[in-house]
Amino acid sequence: MIEVNEEYCKGCNLCILFCPRDALEESETLNKKGVHPPVEIEDRCNGCRLCELICPDFAIVVEEEDKKLTERQPSTKCCV
Ligand code: SF4
Ligand code: SF4
Repeated sequence: MIEVNEEYCKGCNLCILFCPRDALEESETLNKKGVHPPVEIEDRCNGCRLCELICPDFAIVVEEEDKKLTERQPSTKCCV
């Protein structure tokens, strides 16, 4: 899940263009800068964080979901 600080966004669309899952689109509303900040399209984001890294204005934070955290439980398989 992503959090967008809409007022930081300058509308460059880098996050939308480079998202590998096409999980972002322009919102229908304008922010104070007169641009359309990105919004997340449901059930597409895989949490890769590329949008967070690529945004030149630090307008995006990717939050990990509880579900993904539980998937990172250590393996119980024996390696001997
Ligand atoms: S990369 Fe950042 S500034 Fe550019 S459109 Fe996305 S959120 Fe806005
Ligand atoms: S975290 Fe990755 S998949 Fe999710 S919106 Fe950002 S770039 Fe797209």
